Amino acid sequence: GGDRTKNVLILMSDTGGGHRASAEAIRDAFKAEFGDQYKIFIKDVWKEYTGWPLNNMENQYKFMVKHVQLWNVAFHGTSPRWIHNAYLAAFAAFYAKEVEAGLMEYKPDIIISVHPLMQHIPLWVLKWQGLDKKVIFVTVITDLNTCHRTWFHPGVDRCYCPSQEVAKRALLDGLEESQLRVFGLPIRPTFTRAVLNKDELRVELELDPKLPAVLLMGGGEGMGPVKKTAMALGESLFDKETGKPFGQMVIICGRNKALASSLESLEWKIPVKVRGFEKEMQKWMGACDCIITKAGPGTIAEALIRGLPLILNDYIPGQEKGNVPYVVNNEAGVFTRSSKETARIVAGWFSTNADEHKRMAENALKLAQPEAVFDIVRDIHELACQRGPRNFPYVLTSSFSSLI
Ligand code: UDP
Repeated sequence: GGDRTKNVLILMSDTGGGHRASAEAIRDAFKAEFGDQYKIFIKDVWKEYTGWPLNNMENQYKFMVKHVQLWNVAFHGTSPRWIHNAYLAAFAAFYAKEVEAGLMEYKPDIIISVHPLMQHIPLWVLKWQGLDKKVIFVTVITDLNTCHRTWFHPGVDRCYCPSQEVAKRALLDGLEESQLRVFGLPIRPTFTRAVLNKDELRVELELDPKLPAVLLMGGGEGMGPVKKTAMALGESLFDKETGKPFGQMVIICGRNKALASSLESLEWKIPVKVRGFEKEMQKWMGACDCIITKAGPGTIAEALIRGLPLILNDYIPGQEKGNVPYVVNNEAGVFTRSSKETARIVAGWFSTNADEHKRMAENALKLAQPEAVFDIVRDIHELACQRGPRNFPYVLTSSFSSLI
């Protein structure tokens, strides 16, 4: 039933972990695949409240007292297992209002959650408004392996898992097989659809045309032991006997300006490019032969698509931890926190250990899922077609917040 533009509301929170990147990838894929059949809205549920609830103790207390009561009313005392403390409850009640505001403003036919804490409340608000049978609700999980259980809610129409490991967890947590689809992590179409030629890229990016290249980065914020690793590589990729480099290095510092300027002031024995935040990561990855990064899901999925063996040198505790075995067990890369070891591995890949490099590059490509974001939006489109054209006034009954 595609006779009218349908509204899609993507719920996210820009609190790291690549949720924004996933949201934008989904938006772009809808556009590429279905033009103006869908109108996409991305709502950052937590945006205006950076620092909350720690920024104002007094208001925080009032807020909590008010909303913890609200929370109790809402769930009639059957507190879900993920509510461990008042902070979470207050957060939940707070963003229930934001979700409700999103409903009123965008009147979505479809809601997509790309955040681990955005299933329970939005689904509850939908039910409260009598919209749960009319609005399609799906979750797109953005952790590759050991994701938090709050991602899983049996009330969703679909739960898109990036890997079989995640799908297994979803089954254990009570979701039905029919609710699950395993397509992969959504990556921007500009990245996955790019047609790239390594030789041309090296000319364009002013890299050495011949020397193997290692890409060193640390997510959007330039985190992890980047500088130490860079210095170790500066030594290990230089052949003392011939007095020549046998590798080159690209360091992408993201938004970490201090890191970029401190690296620029150093002298190197090998060709080095230091860059800030790059908008065309597909090109830099396409021009390099391997990558060193913290275990961010976005960077990992992208590197796999480009067939780059990975050295993971750090992870954010919790959500990124499981990304490490995902890469290591599938033999698409290795994990080490030691910058010396990292430098030694890359030097090996670029000389005597080229076989391992090749094998890992092949494994990376096998794991890659460049079509994931398109598979996801096509599946959502099918759901929307099954549901047929919606024909009801989007009048909300009493507001959730009026419960207080
Ligand atoms: N990224 C980018 N330009 C940069 C550095 C990073 O576009 O200069 C992108 C990178 O390609 C990836 C995302 O930022 O898509 C980082 O996501 P990830 O999940 O790896 O880590 P996060 O930064 O969210 O912790």
